[in-house]
Amino acid sequence: MAKLTLKNLNKSFYKNREAIHAVSDLSIETKDGEFVALLGPSGCGKSTTLRMIAGLEDITSGEVLIGERKLNDLHPKDRNIGLAFENYAMYPPLSVYDNISFNMRAKNVPKETIKKEIDKMASLLDLKDLLAMNPSALSGGQKQRVNIARALIRRPEVLLLDEPLSHLDGKVRQKMRTEIKHLHNEINCTTIIVTHDQLEAMALADRIAIIKDGVLQQFGTPLEVFNHPQNEFVAGFIGEPPMNIFTVFATFKEGSVYLVSKNGKLRFNVPDKYKDYLEEGKEYRFGIRPTDISVVTDDQPYSTELNVTVFENVGEECRIHIKIEEDNILSIVSEEIYKLDTGDGIKIKFDSDRIHIFDVNTGERVE
Ligand code: ATP
Repeated sequence: MAKLTLKNLNKSFYKNREAIHAVSDLSIETKDGEFVALLGPSGCGKSTTLRMIAGLEDITSGEVLIGERKLNDLHPKDRNIGLAFENYAMYPPLSVYDNISFNMRAKNVPKETIKKEIDKMASLLDLKDLLAMNPSALSGGQKQRVNIARALIRRPEVLLLDEPLSHLDGKVRQKMRTEIKHLHNEINCTTIIVTHDQLEAMALADRIAIIKDGVLQQFGTPLEVFNHPQNEFVAGFIGEPPMNIFTVFATFKEGSVYLVSKNGKLRFNVPDKYKDYLEEGKEYRFGIRPTDISVVTDDQPYSTELNVTVFENVGEECRIHIKIEEDNILSIVSEEIYKLDTGDGIKIKFDSDRIHIFDVNTGERVE
């Protein structure tokens, strides 16, 4: 088992003499055996980070360590890291068995040892029926399993997975996701996965590092990043459908704090603790997840009457879309509100324990 540390990691590429800061001052420390996801939109620097850990990309500055062992100047093969990249080529003329055992054979490991190790991998990753096959005959999911077996057979201290599921579709993708989670529970090897899919990161990882433009935005458990996003970017990136986020301003009246939407159509009371954080008359970005908005009956004075723009009953839940001038608000309710239709008037209520307020300039969470 091993702890992986990234210390103030930087990577700049130069294009026409202009620097592209692919990774900026990234610091992350995993625990032994932890499963960590690097998550962010395309181009945010996830793969570059993984490649620096693997030794496939020079480090501009900063350090990569396993335990106390600094990896910066070590050759990739001396780092004791297993890599499973999305398009990691297999040797086409060789069987799956020979592909997995390639490095062991190159090191003259005795045949019986190789067989024992491969049998172990085969049962762990459900590969028994594939061992005699040629790589060209494998499906996407099977190729990924073989890739992971090839990485793990070296008994690495750290396993790196680069978008292992992105070319798989639907059910295969979900099945493989569960298999990877199961595998991690079995082998407990410190694992870093790169993904742009927040659901994948939430389902697999113990902790998620959310990156934007090469800069770490938040490093926390799936529940921490979901329930307590540190900034507006994280709030909007985590969660599907995404959080409703719109501009409000704060007003104080008779000792209570109210937030009012820019168009004035929504005016709601927020818990008193916000008195310490909000400034009278100042604009903020306000976030609320669709599942934290409920529809209330007429006699409860929570909001002014709003009109349903679109109503969808998707079986297990009802989705109510409300357009308030430039803002679109989505409420997801589980009650059976079958009767709503476009144009119907409703009132809504926000769960005040589950609101998120961000600074309008910095995007940072308030409180
Ligand atoms: P994706 O999900 O699309 O793979 P990513 O988050 O993994 O994206 P990177 O591939 O790490 O992002 O790229 C980060 C930034 O560095 C991007 O702006 C990219 O264009 C740039 N970059 C990556 N590799 C190089 C390179 N070899 N030369 C120049 N720029 C590069």
